Amino acid sequence: MPKVTKKIKATEAQKKDSSSKNKILKDVSRTLGTKDILANDFNNLEAVKNDLSDFFKRYGFSQLETPIMEKAEMFKNNFRRDVSKELYEITSDKGEKLALRSELTQGIIRAFMDHNLNETMPQPVRLFSLGPVFRQEKLQSSRYRQFTQINAEIFGENKPVAEAFLIYTMATLCEDWGLDIEVQINSLGKSECQKEYRNKLISYYKERGNRSKICNECRKNLTKDPMALLDCTEKECLNLAEGAPQIVDFLNEESREYFQKLVEYLDELGIKYNFNPRLVRGLNYYNDTVFEFWPLADNGQPQYKYALGGGGRYDRLVEKISGQEISGVGMALGLERIVYKLKDKNLILFPQPENLIFLAQLSERAKLKSIQIFEELRKEGFNVRNSFVASSLKKQLEEAKQLQTRICLILGKKELTDDTILLRDMDSGMQEIIPQKKLIKELQKKLN
Ligand code: AMP
Repeated sequence: MPKVTKKIKATEAQKKDSSSKNKILKDVSRTLGTKDILANDFNNLEAVKNDLSDFFKRYGFSQLETPIMEKAEMFKNNFRRDVSKELYEITSDKGEKLALRSELTQGIIRAFMDHNLNETMPQPVRLFSLGPVFRQEKLQSSRYRQFTQINAEIFGENKPVAEAFLIYTMATLCEDWGLDIEVQINSLGKSECQKEYRNKLISYYKERGNRSKICNECRKNLTKDPMALLDCTEKECLNLAEGAPQIVDFLNEESREYFQKLVEYLDELGIKYNFNPRLVRGLNYYNDTVFEFWPLADNGQPQYKYALGGGGRYDRLVEKISGQEISGVGMALGLERIVYKLKDKNLILFPQPENLIFLAQLSERAKLKSIQIFEELRKEGFNVRNSFVASSLKKQLEEAKQLQTRICLILGKKELTDDTILLRDMDSGMQEIIPQKKLIKELQKKLN
């Protein structure tokens, strides 16, 4: 009797177990606004990262990586327009208000202070960083909720040479990559210039006939942040912005000279730019310079909605986070947008490895031997590929073709017994059987 009870119990437990095992998750679709990056795009993404990192390193920038989560206050208090709507907030087990970073800049400034980099690094301090950022924004094309930025920041340089360098970097690399862009520049002056300008803008948008035309969002922003209206992409708001007062008319002498100097630097560096009096960027912590990189469409028109990156001078932001008067300039580039644009233009940055050799095998024993041969070739410096798991020769040859290999080596039962290997030249289709001990010499001869 006790045995039976035990059996019944076991069956129930099993039932329970199997029902939970069989439960299929109902919704495993990708989260809105996120993206899977597959091999082709990934290669370009890596190439763009490498080119930018390499460029920055040559100019003395040090790389740093900061956490994806930071204190929410750091983002909320730092003037990102719409930040309260777009921030992904988290409460920690200790009740701390944290946020997934919506930009890299704040974390970089915090790390710069935490590690006393101003004292320990060569001046001006140059840092770059890359990684994912998260914004809960309206879903539109080329606008994700998780995307990758690469940032470069310069602390302790109060001359426009800092901005000029950042603009130069992106302009040069876009040229190298074959991407046509138009650099947009503007000056937002100092706080005092912006104060007067804001009042003028409010009056302009409140004028009869204007207020009724602006979108609801802009109406809400008008008194709080009138410069945000210049950044709105609604058609009517764009039209109105055309006739709005321009900040350039409100710059004080110092800001005017500063901007003039920046323009001179850009001219000397041979960088073409467009002075855009309506460029304010979606952040309101900038003073003096702001800039953006707009890709050009096939008809040569700049595409402001798909900006590849942007930046500016943010002395006030550094002061706000660090409590110290240290000047700061930075830019953030959107890697997915750059990669999308490269794809759109059929540009492949990641070069296919040259002189690839594919090692195919045809039996369980040949698989093991081929690992040994593979290692010998790899250590000799050959660019060798293999698919150890595959058993069908047809599939292996298809893979070799897809990889555009120059030479395919085939190890079958017969070759295994004879200590030979079949060498096939993929271009000419010629095949020959050679002793395994002569393989390296033979490959060197063929590939040179
Ligand atoms: P921002 O930090 O807003 O100045 O953005 C800098 C760059 O990041 C932009 O020019 C875009 O290339 C990219 N970017 C900004 N927001 C998004 C987004 N939601 N999705 C994809 N890329 C973005």
